[in-house]
Amino acid sequence: MKIGREDFEAFMKGEKNITPYIEIDPEAGSYSVFGVKTASNPNYLIKAIFEMYEANLGKKLAVEAVCNLFHSVGMGSVGLNNFLKKSGMDLKPAEFLMLVFKLQHQQGWGAPFELVESGDKRIVLRTKHTFESEVLHDWKMPVCGIHRGWIEGVLIAVTGKNWFCIEKMCHAQGDDCCEFVADQRESSWKWKAEAIVRGDSAITEYIDHKPLAGTIRLIDDPVVMVPRFIFTSMANSLKKTMGELPAGGVNYRAYMDMGKENVEHYKKMGITKPNILSDMAFAFYSQMGWFRIIKMEWDEEKKEKTITLEHTAESESFGNTGKNVCYCTAGLLAGIVEGAFGIKVQGREIKCRSKGDEHCVFTITNKPA
Ligand SMILES: [Zn+2]
Ligand SMILES: [Zn+2]
Repeated sequence: MKIGREDFEAFMKGEKNITPYIEIDPEAGSYSVFGVKTASNPNYLIKAIFEMYEANLGKKLAVEAVCNLFHSVGMGSVGLNNFLKKSGMDLKPAEFLMLVFKLQHQQGWGAPFELVESGDKRIVLRTKHTFESEVLHDWKMPVCGIHRGWIEGVLIAVTGKNWFCIEKMCHAQGDDCCEFVADQRESSWKWKAEAIVRGDSAITEYIDHKPLAGTIRLIDDPVVMVPRFIFTSMANSLKKTMGELPAGGVNYRAYMDMGKENVEHYKKMGITKPNILSDMAFAFYSQMGWFRIIKMEWDEEKKEKTITLEHTAESESFGNTGKNVCYCTAGLLAGIVEGAFGIKVQGREIKCRSKGDEHCVFTITNKPA
């Protein structure tokens, strides 16, 4: 079937719907709409995608991961946009977005869309419900990551600029519609890192891993993966040359410098508030697999910070030794606090999993002058 500009115009005006443009050939197992090969979207497939991410990320971050996944689907619409441009239809980004959703809606992807606001830098769309808000209704939260990703992808593709879409209201959360607000905005390192600290993003969204090229980047910064036994390996090697206690001291010192340097890097990226700087470093190291933060307490009278961690890299690497082993972690925590608050501190491990305690507990105190 030959499809041209007048078909899309009739479709947009509502003079025609997609029915005449559906070609289904059960023998060949093909199904196309407007000449584009498509397929139905079974509920179980949508559910499986969300649940695959939920298993490792929890519900909120799973929605973000689905949003990122659907960028590429949205960006694929650049082909249709080019086709329309060539045939003399120069649609505004919001108009093109509405056309895409009209096509999707008539193919079974939820209710029709309504354009609420259409500016150069902000586009607001509303719909009674989406496909995923029905499938994931029992999540009782904004779940429409597919549509958010789609909207972002379409807008990035047709404008060549960065767009971020959030869902202000969601049918799955009990609201009477799903409302999508897309803003055109630059995505800086600072913006992404702050989203990680707030818990709105996970570092997995920003890991750019090219295994065949031998590179990994985390929000544009090069990183490397190291096996966890590097901690036992290095500690044992130092122990052989200088003895156990000095080895612990050297590790403490080295990791303290690393913690400080890390905070300096965040400062260069535009982060200034001491609390954000330290929370950022703790969040990044935790998400990179170094430990899980159980709690952080501040004793005003003693001017002492107590940090309780689960499965520190060192205690897991050493196993049960009957002694405290987390010198690197103690140094790292102290270095982060020193760098963030611009003070001199002493970090000490007072309980350790390797000694048989439930968790590793660290105190950070001001260093007496
Ligand atoms: Zn929704
Ligand atoms: Zn420990």
